[in-house]
Amino acid sequence: MRIFDPHIHMTSRTTDDYERMAAAGVRAVVEPSFWLGQPRTSAASFTDYFDSLIGWEPFRAGQFGVRHFATVALNPKEANDPRCRPVLDLLPRYLDKDAVVAVGEIGYDSMTPEEDEAFAAQLALAVAYDLPALVHTPHRDKARGCERTLAVVAESGIEAGRVVVDHLNEVTVKLVRDSGCWLGFSIYPDTKMTPSRMVELLREYGTERMLVNSAADWGRSDPLLTRATGEAMLLAGFSDDDVDKVLWRNPVEFYGQSGRLDLTDLEVSAVDPQTGNSILRGGS
Ligand SMILES: [Zn+2]
Repeated sequence: MRIFDPHIHMTSRTTDDYERMAAAGVRAVVEPSFWLGQPRTSAASFTDYFDSLIGWEPFRAGQFGVRHFATVALNPKEANDPRCRPVLDLLPRYLDKDAVVAVGEIGYDSMTPEEDEAFAAQLALAVAYDLPALVHTPHRDKARGCERTLAVVAESGIEAGRVVVDHLNEVTVKLVRDSGCWLGFSIYPDTKMTPSRMVELLREYGTERMLVNSAADWGRSDPLLTRATGEAMLLAGFSDDDVDKVLWRNPVEFYGQSGRLDLTDLEVSAVDPQTGNSILRGGS
């Protein structure tokens, strides 16, 4: 089973996770920039973070045979902090980088006027830089948040097929499907979605434009739930080809729209995590 995790925060994970992911079939990941838990007090903090997302983290991932890409943005939560707003002016420098395959995560946290502004400004950047956009949806008041999200996306003029609306569930799936945007689902140990609920949605809505991610971060989460979802699909009667479409070809198609998704030599560079062959040892 080959797996592309289209949304995972590896900065918050250990190298043990990279080893386990590689062993489970994860060959590529997209790491969206997000809120680190501890509020940042200046735009300079973001500079170091973005540099790490396009420098250190791809290097670390590469040691385990995992290809690493990033998305950059001012995240919805920190869009409310005036100390972080100057990040919007830093973004163009990063949106030119080859390792950056989308603008994200953007969207709503608490649906404030400040978030409205940052969301619209960053959708405009996605259009200007000809990049797809990764849109986070709020965890509270999900249906209303999703409706408002789709209205802002439509207003921005970005093509629906270049937007993924993420963290969906049974309540929001149909709205997004009807919009023409891609559908992102975060499979979590005990909140958001589970593998079995995901299988039900794939049964009902099919595999087109469907993206499954672990969204693993510094909270309770599991980078192997993409694999668990693939296995649940097989048990439920989906074919290997269906699983490959959802866990590999769909994310490749979506982020491939950036024109920057270089997956060449991926098979060749994949290492056997059991033997450690060809893994560079960090710090030695
Ligand atoms: Zn995230």
